[in-house]
Amino acid sequence: MGFGEEVKMGEDRAVYANVIVDISVEKLDKTFQYLVPEELKDDVAIGVQVKIPFGNRAVTGYVIELTGEPEIDVRRIKPILKVCSGAVAIESQLIALAGWMRKNYGSTMNQALKTVLPVRKKTGQKKERSVSLCISAEQARAKLALYESRRNTAKARLVRELIAEGTLDYGLVVGRLNVSSQTVRALSEQGVVRVEEKRSYRNPVGNLKSGEYLLTLNENQRRVVSAVVSDMERGIFSAYLVKGVTGSGKTEVYMELIAHVIEKGRQAIVLIPEIALTYQTVMRFYGRFGDRVSIMNSRLSGGERYDQFERAKAGDIDIMIGPRSALFTPFADLGLIIIDEEHETSYKSETAPRYHARDVARERARMCGASLVLGSATPSVDSYYRAKCGSYRLLELSERVDSRPLPACEIVDMRKELMEGNRSILSVRLQELMEERLVRGEQIMLFLNRRGAAGFISCRACGSVIKCPHCDVSLSLHMEEAGGHSMVCHYCGYRTAQPALCPACGSRYLGGFKAGTQRIEQLVQKRFPAARTMRMDFDSTRTKDSYEKILSAFASREADILVGTQMIVKGHDFPNVTLVGVLAADMSLHVSDFHASERTFQLLTQAVGRAGRGKLPGNAVIQTYAPDNFAVEAARDQDYDRFYAREIAYRSMLSYPPVWNLLLIHCTGAKQPAVEEAAGCAAVWLKGRIAEESEEVLLVGPADASVSKVNDVYRKVIYMKAKHYGTLVRLKDETERYVREQSLFSPVTVQFDFNPVSGF
Ligand code: ADP
Ligand code: ZN
Ligand code: ZN
Repeated sequence: MGFGEEVKMGEDRAVYANVIVDISVEKLDKTFQYLVPEELKDDVAIGVQVKIPFGNRAVTGYVIELTGEPEIDVRRIKPILKVCSGAVAIESQLIALAGWMRKNYGSTMNQALKTVLPVRKKTGQKKERSVSLCISAEQARAKLALYESRRNTAKARLVRELIAEGTLDYGLVVGRLNVSSQTVRALSEQGVVRVEEKRSYRNPVGNLKSGEYLLTLNENQRRVVSAVVSDMERGIFSAYLVKGVTGSGKTEVYMELIAHVIEKGRQAIVLIPEIALTYQTVMRFYGRFGDRVSIMNSRLSGGERYDQFERAKAGDIDIMIGPRSALFTPFADLGLIIIDEEHETSYKSETAPRYHARDVARERARMCGASLVLGSATPSVDSYYRAKCGSYRLLELSERVDSRPLPACEIVDMRKELMEGNRSILSVRLQELMEERLVRGEQIMLFLNRRGAAGFISCRACGSVIKCPHCDVSLSLHMEEAGGHSMVCHYCGYRTAQPALCPACGSRYLGGFKAGTQRIEQLVQKRFPAARTMRMDFDSTRTKDSYEKILSAFASREADILVGTQMIVKGHDFPNVTLVGVLAADMSLHVSDFHASERTFQLLTQAVGRAGRGKLPGNAVIQTYAPDNFAVEAARDQDYDRFYAREIAYRSMLSYPPVWNLLLIHCTGAKQPAVEEAAGCAAVWLKGRIAEESEEVLLVGPADASVSKVNDVYRKVIYMKAKHYGTLVRLKDETERYVREQSLFSPVTVQFDFNPVSGF
């Protein structure tokens, strides 16, 4: 998609290579410079292994940078002896990938290398343990019934899983299954289970052979699988977007593709957002692929991550599942990368290099001849646009497995509720449906959309939100140093005083939305005193694993109603949930970010899709102050195409991504005048540069960043928009050079962010 091409070095100028001899992160800073001899110019590239003179020996190193500028006296720079031929080491590939990332996202080579290469640390060999039953299956079922009747939920959970799986990895039990080590010890002392040490990490779930996998794909799933597989068989390794409604069986499709790739002796990486990487999901992969699977999460220490990567390199595993960073697993012959829930913003890195996993995956797949499969029920506008342009091949799964219907969904206008005298946060209709479910013993989820709840101002009487007259994004409330309030646009810097009355209807009820999940839980308890409620939000999930604990408790029906923030709508199957209520649906419509409609549509669609995933049909109620908003209406109808058509027209009109590309240049520093002066100069200089461009480039700023001062660091942002990504990459390179040469910038840090995905 128009990424910048690496510029070829000039023929006549001397080229120097910065080389590292030891790939361990502590030593990455230690580069040595060598001359690239004329006859090797064509063969030396970033990542290539070379033989170099080092002291009085010749050693092997990796080229990490090429430059025309010598760092020391040129007479002291020795030439590279030769380029190592033969098989390309996986490190070479990853270093080349780092070079690509540095180029396309802007960072130092060091930052890029630290992102792709694991930390090497000496760690003591950890002993692996397993848990298994030491009573008969019949006795185990009796124990299970006993624990269930006594509400010993952790014990019940463990025994239930052991009956199903035979043996479980100890780490899996105390981690993903949330059974405390005390509980395991107690059961072991009572002779119910046995804990054994194993020498290596093997067979976490017993001996299910892949051949025993029984589920057969339905026709739609088979069609998707064979589209990808038939390309592979013809040697075509391409990128695919699987757009499949919630519950259409995407995960089964992924597993089938993985099985195919492994059969060919190649390996696969599966990216799943951390929040969706639940015990349930992990077990599906273990269940099918057993000990060939490994899982990564952000809780792993540097050393553990390194060990995981070593196992991948040694060929002990074929499948790595994890969040963004799993993308850099050093598999020798990677054949497939899957990115599930590809629309999730967590795939974009928020530290330099600010890369998007989707695009880096594409590049890695290209380097090693692998296929890339993106999947989502609500694809990002970016990916769908690329699919429409032919850059990804679109594959659809438009029906739920077993033709289970999508939930019946209705919108409730909360302005009307207020007019009709209902001041509760729950609409009359939602209360009615809740009552019905509680009587039937079915479960309910109440989703409070808190995204972007802070900051903007809306009217409770008419629902209108105060927006920037220039940019069509909501204005954010800022505290002034003098104590008053003002409203600011983060895109263009427009500033105005906070009005006392609603500009649209004159009402005095202007304000932010304040109710939190805790308040809602109390209200629900008061309204339905007999119901058991549970709450999941940032506060209730702060301790390790409490997230999973709440999910599994709700799954085993320890509560009737689950109240929560966006956490509850992601990647979990609750077959007994037949009603989803969305409170304050429009909250996320007003974040000061051009993705506001997209996020709203995604959140609402995913929330609605939580209802009726089992045998029972589901209902959903969306409560909103903006019942006519297209994103809300499209979510009600689960109509992606209608949403997309409107949204892409809007992006196109305002030259936003993905139609155009956007580059943010962040200038930060401790001294406000220095930051302002530097950012101002950069903008003036860039405007001059842009005038020389043949294609149109738009520049706005410098403006205040959405949070203009954090911990006494001042921030200014410059926005640039251009049709082609490569144009912005070029301007980034020139800005980097400009910044290096101007002493004005020494107290200021300059960072780049291409096509940001969330509030800025
Ligand atoms: P998605 O990832 O699209 O939400 P899943 O792969 O999780 O969908 O499938 C939803 C449910 O349907 C799961 O419980 C899964 O085991 C089941 N399922 C998927 N494919 C089939 C199939 N071909 N036959 C029977 N059940 C299936
Ligand atoms: Zn109003
Ligand atoms: Zn504006």
